[in-house]
Amino acid sequence: MNVADDKTIVKDYFNSTGFDRWRRIYGDGEVNKVQLDIRNGHQQTVETVLNWLQDDNLAGMSICDAGCGVGSLSIPLAQAGAKVFASDISEKMVEEAKDRAAAELANTDNLTFAVQDLEHLSGKYHSVICLDVLIHYPQAQAVEMISHLCSLSESRLILSFAPKTPALSLLKKIGSFFPGPSKATRAYLHKEADVIKILNSQGFTIQRQAMTRTRFYFSRILEAVRS
Ligand code: SAM
Repeated sequence: MNVADDKTIVKDYFNSTGFDRWRRIYGDGEVNKVQLDIRNGHQQTVETVLNWLQDDNLAGMSICDAGCGVGSLSIPLAQAGAKVFASDISEKMVEEAKDRAAAELANTDNLTFAVQDLEHLSGKYHSVICLDVLIHYPQAQAVEMISHLCSLSESRLILSFAPKTPALSLLKKIGSFFPGPSKATRAYLHKEADVIKILNSQGFTIQRQAMTRTRFYFSRILEAVRS
């Protein structure tokens, strides 16, 4: 399968069944037990990143949220005063994010949305953040994506991904890892050492790291800064 095929599959998924599934998981309505576990895990990842960012003065800081989904991170960042550019390959996710921002924020002036593939993003941002997107792409495409995200960042890049560890590889094999999405789109694990190698090659070093682990949700979070 080539790169275009992978992206088309992911885009179509997040504009159809994936949209319905993830909008519910990233919401507060009733969901099944597995989805609730994933919701809680994802919320922990978002909170970890918000805590890291709140150590700095967020007022006016330019932030690119690449693959923003329904705005779970972008909306609180804009609320905290950051100047946020949020984009996603899925039109439906962006529409939902816009609706949520309008409902939750008194003022949306510092939050801009776009429907865009992250590899076509341009410009410069103080911080670039890409949470739980790499799961949809194999290693070869991840190299290109991470390198491109590095080129957009003046100071910091925060990435989260499902780490390729022996335990998770086994879970994935027996099908109890990311049980929903893996049926519709493939789920790819990434070796942390490989991700760090790409970041280092682009002039970044790791400043902080964290791991979110629930029953069905696993996400390694890396904060890399320009060295
Ligand atoms: N980052 C959000 C969060 O953590 O709440 C959403 C995570 S969701 C699992 C993955 C998102 O990545 C989906 O909204 C999907 O449409 C988006 N996505 C997948 N491939 C993308 C790409 N190549 N460029 C931009 N967005 C992409």
